[in-house]
Amino acid sequence: MSHHVVDVQHLWFTYPDGTVALQDVSLSIPHGESVALVGENGAGKSTLLLHLNGSLPVSRGDIRIGGVPVTRETAAAIRRAVGMVFQDPDDQLFMPTVDEDVAFGPLNLRLPGPEVEQRVASALERVGMTARRARPPYRLSAGEKRAAAIATVLAMAPDILVMDEPSSYLDPRGRRRLINLLRSFEHTRIIATHDLELVVDVCSRVIVM
Ligand code: ADP
Repeated sequence: MSHHVVDVQHLWFTYPDGTVALQDVSLSIPHGESVALVGENGAGKSTLLLHLNGSLPVSRGDIRIGGVPVTRETAAAIRRAVGMVFQDPDDQLFMPTVDEDVAFGPLNLRLPGPEVEQRVASALERVGMTARRARPPYRLSAGEKRAAAIATVLAMAPDILVMDEPSSYLDPRGRRRLINLLRSFEHTRIIATHDLELVVDVCSRVIVM
């Protein structure tokens, strides 16, 4: 078993329309490392991230998360281990209130009520959104939506955080808050971004695609 928590070997991917998005991508990320994924638009960053939690199937190559191969059979467990913060928070927030959005994942895991409540409270606290918990997501600022989307992922207690362009839509203050939040995590972090200041402040390694 690899000591790398994320191990991608010779990954290829072609979309059904024939677009070759990934060609022989290999990378290894040890536990707790914070890695930036950079590259021009269309380089394949999002496609790679979508493979890490099984959202796109591995068609050629191999991905292991904590030694477990990502396959159709392991997809449910992999999704608990790999928390994905999508580029657009509106893809992640769909319940009437922030509270319900953050509780949605833990409730789906059929965790006991008090544990759900504890996870929701702790995730909201972590991202500074406790005071906004009763709000409908559509009444949040862009930065608050991003924070709420991150809370929905934290409430699942993943080992690995995967983020696609987390600083897009944020003003300088929201961006600074996000950077401080990302710096405070001990999770393994994989962040696709064009934001080089965020890379410098948060990541110890840069992978160029
Ligand atoms: P990045 O995140 O680095 O901008 P993507 O992974 O989104 O790159 O895209 C990689 C390539 O795959 C690009 O050529 C893009 O046009 C193509 N692509 C992305 N999504 C699809 C899709 N659903 N169908 C066909 N081609 C796609």
